[in-house]
Amino acid sequence: PVRVRMAPSPTGSPHVGLVRTALFNWAFARHHGGTFVFRIEDTDKERSTDESLSSIIDLMRWLGLDWDEGPEVGGPHAPYKQSERSELYADALAKLRGSRFAYDCYCTNDEVEARRKESGSKVIGYDGFCRELTEEQVAAFTADGRLPVVRFRMPDGSITWHDLVRGDVTFETKFVPDYALARANGDPLYTLVNPVDDALMEITHVLRGEDLLSSTPRQIALYEALKELGIAKATPEFGHLPYVMGEGNKKLSKRDPEAHALAYRDQGFIPEGLLNYLALLGWSIAADRDVFSMEEMVAAFDIADVNANPAKFDIKKCDAINTEHMKLLTEADCKQRILPFLQRAGIVGETLSAHEEVLLDQLMPLVAPRLRKLAEAPGLVASFFVSDDDFAIDEAARAKVLNEAGLEVVQAAYDALRGLDEWTTVTIEEALTQRLVETMELKPRVAFGPVRVATSGAQISPPLFESLDLLGREKTLGRLQAALA
Ligand code: GLU
Repeated sequence: PVRVRMAPSPTGSPHVGLVRTALFNWAFARHHGGTFVFRIEDTDKERSTDESLSSIIDLMRWLGLDWDEGPEVGGPHAPYKQSERSELYADALAKLRGSRFAYDCYCTNDEVEARRKESGSKVIGYDGFCRELTEEQVAAFTADGRLPVVRFRMPDGSITWHDLVRGDVTFETKFVPDYALARANGDPLYTLVNPVDDALMEITHVLRGEDLLSSTPRQIALYEALKELGIAKATPEFGHLPYVMGEGNKKLSKRDPEAHALAYRDQGFIPEGLLNYLALLGWSIAADRDVFSMEEMVAAFDIADVNANPAKFDIKKCDAINTEHMKLLTEADCKQRILPFLQRAGIVGETLSAHEEVLLDQLMPLVAPRLRKLAEAPGLVASFFVSDDDFAIDEAARAKVLNEAGLEVVQAAYDALRGLDEWTTVTIEEALTQRLVETMELKPRVAFGPVRVATSGAQISPPLFESLDLLGREKTLGRLQAALA
């Protein structure tokens, strides 16, 4: 059975690269009817925070990427937080230390670096100095008060694996130095805890970012030891997902604003849109198709189809994909999703009044088809909810549109609408078209722009005639008049 995992380190605000990795693991697990594990790699005590962890959990919940084992849901391999698994690592470390696979190393970094300079070696990292210490040497180091780190002994030769994304990958182990498994104080390092947990949690496939490619030969070598020591049953398969490149063809980094995954939620992206876009960073459902649902992705996902080339993060494309998914929402669904945005903007109350409910329902057909992001909703609907006292015209829109000619149009619109017997979308359209377009011979944009600004307060609003119909005669005439004053 397939068992995959996401293993974020809870440091800082979650990155879109983390979501892409989580998504591909999730889709792989769901496609194969497997298990998706969420493990928290918080052994770096200085950098890990509860705040970061809860933002990762919030993010995953918002996206709907559900996990089968991990925080909040538990599971047979609990705990899923590395800071609560110290005994397991101490046990693995003791077994490795007592075996030929690891050794105590007393060297300081300065000593290693001095030896490297002297030998002229180009290999950065440890030179194996402590591999075969005599008892006297150990005694001398100990007398000196030095505490050892435990180092893994890399085997000679080369390590090859069949990467699920990149095909065969080979590393010569002479370029992969012996590495530390734990600090001198006994604290285990990522190099140890990550493979030990993958082994104990019986992970079958490790799908992760290409930035971790160079740790794979070390881990594969460690698996051989863990299997012999009875800690691992099998070595998992590995697949390294392509880099995500940002501006200037540089790796998307935490400094890039578009890297912060939760910002998309706050800007009103919907999970369907964001996930679809992130899936395209390395995968696509078909050559001629960009828009798909997560159900479709799960059904079609094959790790062998993931492209090994770096993927370019394109925020415009992300917007466009989100817009496509916004169009697929029903009005009722769209209404539910914009509500928090309207509430936060103070446009409607925490619980909708009967009036707000009715007005919102009437607005949905006008608003829903025009939204590219949920966060655009407040701007489109605010003018329908504000009291006359609070209604204000955006200053930039006023300066641009309500100039002398614009105010003439507003006056004409006021005159045309004042005498209407019946106030409907159709009669409003007829009256305005007749007066402004036919009599005054204005182009529609020139004719209706000033009316839009005067009645909605902004240059972008739902369709004009429907909007005025909904706004009602009294408010419409009052706003036109106020613009003239
Ligand atoms: N905690 C590691 C990271 O966030 C996970 C590495 C892995 O997926 O193997 O980079």
